[in-house]
Amino acid sequence: MHRQVLITILLFQAASVVVCRANGQPLMVEPGPSSRPAATVPAAGAQAGPARVIDPRRVYFDDPDALYDRQAEVSFEIVADLLDRFRPQIPEPRQRRTALLLLDGIFHEQGAPQRPAVQAFHHQRISQAAKEITGSPPSQGAVIWKLYDHAFVVRTPTVTLAFDLTRGNSAGAEGFAVSDEVMARIVDQCDVLFISHPHGDHADEWVAGRFIEQGKPVVATPELWPGKDLTAKITIPRRQAHVRQPLPLANGGRSLDVVVYPGHQGNLPNNAVLIFTPEGLSFCHTGDQANAKDSEWIDKVAEHHRVDVLMPNCWTPEIARVVRGVNPAIVITGHENELGHSIDHREAYWLTYDRTTDCSRPVLIMTWGESYRYSPIHRSRVH
Ligand SMILES: [Zn+2]
Ligand SMILES: [Zn+2]
Repeated sequence: MHRQVLITILLFQAASVVVCRANGQPLMVEPGPSSRPAATVPAAGAQAGPARVIDPRRVYFDDPDALYDRQAEVSFEIVADLLDRFRPQIPEPRQRRTALLLLDGIFHEQGAPQRPAVQAFHHQRISQAAKEITGSPPSQGAVIWKLYDHAFVVRTPTVTLAFDLTRGNSAGAEGFAVSDEVMARIVDQCDVLFISHPHGDHADEWVAGRFIEQGKPVVATPELWPGKDLTAKITIPRRQAHVRQPLPLANGGRSLDVVVYPGHQGNLPNNAVLIFTPEGLSFCHTGDQANAKDSEWIDKVAEHHRVDVLMPNCWTPEIARVVRGVNPAIVITGHENELGHSIDHREAYWLTYDRTTDCSRPVLIMTWGESYRYSPIHRSRVH
């Protein structure tokens, strides 16, 4: 090509409208000065889908912070679309892994918990879960919601269990936690709260207080909030491997059977609980289980009990061995991407995929606010 023609073409391209495409849809439709406010345009095809935000800047020289903010916004848009179309299921559609890896990229950046888009994602996901939790209980089986960090809500036709439920203050950024109002809607639907150990990413005093106010049991270790009035009202069960003990619930004389395994995070007592619902389903939440000596009972759980769902901390040592010992119908991991932890201990979703490749049972990896409908049919395939 003649040099002058080539230069002319390059100059023309530089001055032209730049259109970036994702799934064939324009993200940016025309250049504009950096002071221009964000505007929205309809998605390509215009008949369906959310409006897309036009990037008001396009140039981020000397402003990496704004670049990260914008990058998070663009990534979340794609994540939301993928998670909406590919819900948690076994076997897992490949597209879910793409969405979760995009989240890892956003969350493994120092300023992530402060970013408005990250906070909005957290609020939106937990609000959506709260809306679902306030709906009708399932007619059979269980619905399991994964919330921030290692929190789960499990609902069966007769009972709703909460594990390590917090508003998200452990992320350490103002504005990240969900509002008291949103969390109250979740708490008000639950019958009991299990707190594995006192660390702030598992225990939230305001949440526990609301359960107690409503006469609902909060089950924890004696190390929780020493010296506080609330502590005297907390249920401290016997920590005894494999032994079922009754746990009375408020209103109506109902009770659950629970096994409180004497787990540890290092030397700190950590309750790993196994709950049996009135329907005969069983759910095991490990908290921050991390102590090699506890293998003594972990290796033998399945010899004593049939477990439907295991909800371990994703970073527990030797997770494949834990899964072998408990032998649940399915595993749903928790504790990925705790934004209050340093980058090296935030625990990416991709690490959970890596760590669980040799697990003997199906593993489901979900993000905040997602839910999974568990049916006892899974059980017949295993036990
Ligand atoms: Zn901990
Ligand atoms: Zn933790």
